[in-house]
Amino acid sequence: MPDASADTPASMAKAGFSLPVKGTVLRGTVQVPAGKTTLTALLPVIQGIENVIVGAVANQAQAAGKPISCKAGCGACCRQMVPLNVFEAEALTDWLQSQPAERQAELAGRFHRALCALRDAGVIDRILESESVAEDEPMTQLAIDYFHAGVACPFLENESCSIYPVRPLACREYLVMSPPELCKDPAANEVTGVRLPVKLSRALHHFGRTVTLDPRGWIPLIFLMAWAKGGARPGEHVTGSGEELLQRFLDKAAELGKDQEN
Ligand code: SF4
Repeated sequence: MPDASADTPASMAKAGFSLPVKGTVLRGTVQVPAGKTTLTALLPVIQGIENVIVGAVANQAQAAGKPISCKAGCGACCRQMVPLNVFEAEALTDWLQSQPAERQAELAGRFHRALCALRDAGVIDRILESESVAEDEPMTQLAIDYFHAGVACPFLENESCSIYPVRPLACREYLVMSPPELCKDPAANEVTGVRLPVKLSRALHHFGRTVTLDPRGWIPLIFLMAWAKGGARPGEHVTGSGEELLQRFLDKAAELGKDQEN
């Protein structure tokens, strides 16, 4: 369970939270930015809570004799269309801009080449035209065709995620128990996914929909650099005190988690 250290910097404050998860309540204390803040600024805390949930589910799977097969060095799933909500897009933009110029240029080249490959496969135009890739329909034909284009995420290096600590929630939530080789074509093979009791990404998509014109509330990760050039920061419109905003976010995640169970 997340717990704030005794030493809280002046720019941070301690915040308690609770998250009902499948008949139990996850409670903890975390450090959040002091004063008014945004969901984008709270992302590291949200990622930490997600890690706790995923870790607990992984332990349960292990104990049940069905361990999670995802491992470093297996990036088969990193050719899928990754949904990135505005808060994650803003945080990743900040992260990119904090990188040395050479690294930024290298990543810009990779994003460009990946976009060109997806354009040549006829996928980009369909993404731009389509509003049908809703969050509840991850395996639409477009998502399948995107995967079949075989274009690796620009952050994938040696089949491992090069931004592992700041990777999107959707990547953290995609876990399988079936043999890794089946992930080479999840549309054709029977890939056994791990069902999480709550997906925090769904709550971020929900809040994303409240501040963007895009009905999805997210963009494909592959559009990140193009999106960042626009300079918009819609995520900064979702504000509150750290404790209040975090609890509002978790309440929405719990509500959406109940829908998931039904
Ligand atoms: S961000 Fe990392 S984990 Fe997610 S698709 Fe890209 S390389 Fe894979």
